Amino acid sequence: MANKMVAGNWKMNKTFQEAEELISELIEELEKSEHKCEVVVCPPALYLEMTSDYSSDSGVMKIGAQNVSEYEKGAYTGEIAAGMLASMNVDYCIVGHSERRKYFGETNKQLALKVERLLENAIRPIFCCGELLEEREAGNHFLVVEKQIEEALFHFGSDEFMNIIIAYEPVWAIGTGKTATPDQAQEMHAFIRRVISNKYGNEVAEATTILYGGSCNAQNAKELFSNPDVDGGLIGGASLKAKDFAAIVNSF
Ligand code: PEP
Repeated sequence: MANKMVAGNWKMNKTFQEAEELISELIEELEKSEHKCEVVVCPPALYLEMTSDYSSDSGVMKIGAQNVSEYEKGAYTGEIAAGMLASMNVDYCIVGHSERRKYFGETNKQLALKVERLLENAIRPIFCCGELLEEREAGNHFLVVEKQIEEALFHFGSDEFMNIIIAYEPVWAIGTGKTATPDQAQEMHAFIRRVISNKYGNEVAEATTILYGGSCNAQNAKELFSNPDVDGGLIGGASLKAKDFAAIVNSF
């Protein structure tokens, strides 16, 4: 059975002081109840050290980065290497978020390299996939998602693949307030698990954590997470409010 997880993607939000307030409020909220899933917080890279310091005292959450360089090290101004993240006690890293694909032109080939760098450094990738609205309307959503996963991940052996978290994030649902219905989420998650099973076998597929992302909030999380193939969520907007994020975590 797959591990359950709720991960928060703060994106490019919050000043340092606001981020400190958010992380301490969140720790306070999470310490109030015993949660039944792994909690990951992905702040902007500048705040990784601070959030990691806060969380290592509390132990209630793990820390993730939002991006990593496809290169190992060297003359790549502005980039952050997987080895650097590992040296800052980062446990997870989001890869292939649709905003990175859209605004920074990231391709499946680049994403494959990013995942490679992360695995070399024992950081678990949270690999995002998902279709555009027009792709769903044209009935191509399964094909699109399958191709994203195949091209970026299927060259890994099963031991490596077991460290990867999949986040299904229909692009039309991200930050739009339009959530996939629980049935749409379950249908795609079951499909993703079948695709993984065909490649790596049932045992690996059953153990793979598959998160849903896209306007998931404190009101709809319980219903989404009650689906057999939805193992948790990758949360954007609602992760910026401690009480809302804690309520999502406590939806399990
Ligand atoms: C995301 O960006 O990963 C996301 C799911 O955003 P939101 O929850 O705001 O739709």
